[in-house]
Amino acid sequence: MRRFLIAGNWKMNCGPKRTKTLLTNLKDKIQEIPEGIDVLVCPPPISLTTAVKTVSDVDIDVGAQNVHYEDNGAYTGEISTQMLNEASCTHVIVGHSERREYFGETDTIVNAKTKKALSAGLQPIICIGESLDQRKNNVHKKMVRKQVDAALNKISKEDVKNVILAYEPLWAIGTGETATPEQAQEMHAMIRENVANLYNKNAADSLRILYGGSMKPYNAEELLEQPDVDGGLIGGASLKADSFADIIEIAAELTSV
Ligand code: PEP
Repeated sequence: MRRFLIAGNWKMNCGPKRTKTLLTNLKDKIQEIPEGIDVLVCPPPISLTTAVKTVSDVDIDVGAQNVHYEDNGAYTGEISTQMLNEASCTHVIVGHSERREYFGETDTIVNAKTKKALSAGLQPIICIGESLDQRKNNVHKKMVRKQVDAALNKISKEDVKNVILAYEPLWAIGTGETATPEQAQEMHAMIRENVANLYNKNAADSLRILYGGSMKPYNAEELLEQPDVDGGLIGGASLKADSFADIIEIAAELTSV
């Protein structure tokens, strides 16, 4: 049984002050995290410790949006796994399309970051997804399979148990345009099959695959209802306590039926 993971990617939003306010409002709104689902927020690095403190009395995990693949050293502006461990982070987003597009993150770098995160006991949420052109040219499946193969290169059967994938079609991120439930299910099922081929059916069945791309309270139910959609990686809607809480509630209702 895979538990839903509802994860907020705050991107470059919310310094410590706003982090405290947003999480306090979220806690007021949901009171306690419903049984059977996992909730995660990923603020920017400067707000991680504030986030951890603010959610210390509820079952919300805190993750980072990025990590370096080296332990330490002369990498100005970067953040290490040890720093994330010290800040009590549990997860880290790896290979978000914005990092791939604006910061030159290649499949090789994504793989190195994934390995480093796993070796430090952090759960990587590896983002994969095709561009609009790739979908129009009908190479989207091939591209996403290639990203999955590269990200999981030389990751052991043991370690893959701690990996989470997030299918995020680029054309749906921050655009208000969402994959249809059928499109999401088709891609998630294909990704799971790919993982089964790389490892085995057990590994594929227990791996969580999140959907990301304009998930909002109005479309969350039809997406989360799909058998291979195990949660959401949510950008815009995670920046408002009301909409993030609504999506958490939707996941909780689907879990209880
Ligand atoms: C994201 O940043 O991963 C994302 C899915 O953003 P949005 O929900 O705003 O499309």
